[in-house]
Amino acid sequence: MMVRLFFILTMMMSALTQADVKDVRVWQSPDKTRLVFDLTEPSEHKIFTLSNPDRVVIDLMAAKSLKNVAEIDVKGTNVKAIRTGKRNKKDLRIVLDVSQALSPKSFPLKPNKKYPFHRLVVDLENKQAIKAVAAPVKHIKQSGSSKRNIIIAIDAGHGGEDPGAIGPGRIYEKRIVLAIARQLEKLLKKEPGFQPFMVRTGDYYIGLRERTAKARKANADFFVSIHADAFKHPSAHGSSVFVLSERGATSEAARWLADKENESDLIGGVSLEDKEDHLAMTLLDLSMTAKRNSSVQIGAGILKQMGKVSRLHKKQVEEAAFVVLKAPDMPALLVETGFISNPGEAKKLAGRSYQKKMAKAIFSGIRSYFKSHPPRGTLLASSHGKSSAVDNWQSVSGKNYTKPGHRTYVVRRGDTLSAIAVKNRVAMSRIRRLNKLKSDNVWVGQKLKIPTS
Ligand SMILES: [Zn+2]
Repeated sequence: MMVRLFFILTMMMSALTQADVKDVRVWQSPDKTRLVFDLTEPSEHKIFTLSNPDRVVIDLMAAKSLKNVAEIDVKGTNVKAIRTGKRNKKDLRIVLDVSQALSPKSFPLKPNKKYPFHRLVVDLENKQAIKAVAAPVKHIKQSGSSKRNIIIAIDAGHGGEDPGAIGPGRIYEKRIVLAIARQLEKLLKKEPGFQPFMVRTGDYYIGLRERTAKARKANADFFVSIHADAFKHPSAHGSSVFVLSERGATSEAARWLADKENESDLIGGVSLEDKEDHLAMTLLDLSMTAKRNSSVQIGAGILKQMGKVSRLHKKQVEEAAFVVLKAPDMPALLVETGFISNPGEAKKLAGRSYQKKMAKAIFSGIRSYFKSHPPRGTLLASSHGKSSAVDNWQSVSGKNYTKPGHRTYVVRRGDTLSAIAVKNRVAMSRIRRLNKLKSDNVWVGQKLKIPTS
């Protein structure tokens, strides 16, 4: 009797809790198409592909039909069209006509401050494009020289599902920071000895950990994340520069901003599988103090330049626990180019001329630091005179200026390339370069050269 009653209740519940698909958004990145479904209730789903022609089928259990499928904007994506139909009287079948064979992955996201709905994220991965995107960036050698360029990873914050802060007049942080990032890219392209690497190139979301992973793969010498955020008081204004802190934030605004930035993964959408395990992170954290000082030096240079274009929020480089700055092998900074929540500043931030000036300030700060601290083996180091060539990583402590050279490290059981880099306090990219490694795989007994200067 109880069993039967329970069954009837469940039936009633499920009838009551039929999910309604409220909206669908489609984002295209270089290697995948992301579809996000807003649902009034969490719904179980099945997903599979069909070929000839290529289609992706999503069955949403106990769900109601999508409104105006034709209105969903799929322009510029790998989805050509979306069709829907009823299935088993209570389920909803969504068929995506796609331009090529794509591998689907999906995960749910719970409601949060920005999105009151349950979201179902479907990522359609293009395996060929993933391979191309994941290929390491080749150092461009200047003609007639064997010296490499300094690689600067430019990270435009937010993107796609995560708009970042929204200012008065619907000014989106994700758009402004991408515009500034593109200006910075232009300046670095023109500067001999430098090579920009854009972490985000369009309107799509990248997880916080994935951003530094991309920069690491690109063998970046430096990572800069660009933002324009909001504060609870609209009167807050001015630009600021942050480095990673393990111990806590230097001001209330710094803590507030770090908390907001760290929410990005919840809003932009990162599946649990993408999160690095805790042990790996603890290992990485060990090495971070070493590069913090050079981050502070670069940051101070940028602040000085920014002070000429805008008012500064704080005159010193600030510290806070930004997840996006947790990269062990390169100095990293987060630049707040102004407060989008301040009406006057929002207007300036949206204008091309201020965006250019901000990019120029960041560029000048980076250039002047690397001109006086060129990493060994770079074109800048050779034009600067070999004796003064130091590695930015080692220059942090100021006392590690030993003769150029290396020692040998024998790989032990359980070692990974990143753990070896951390243990020896050198950048992974330097070990890779010195040993001419084609991949990050290491084997027990392998002898690796570890740079000592
Ligand atoms: Zn931001």
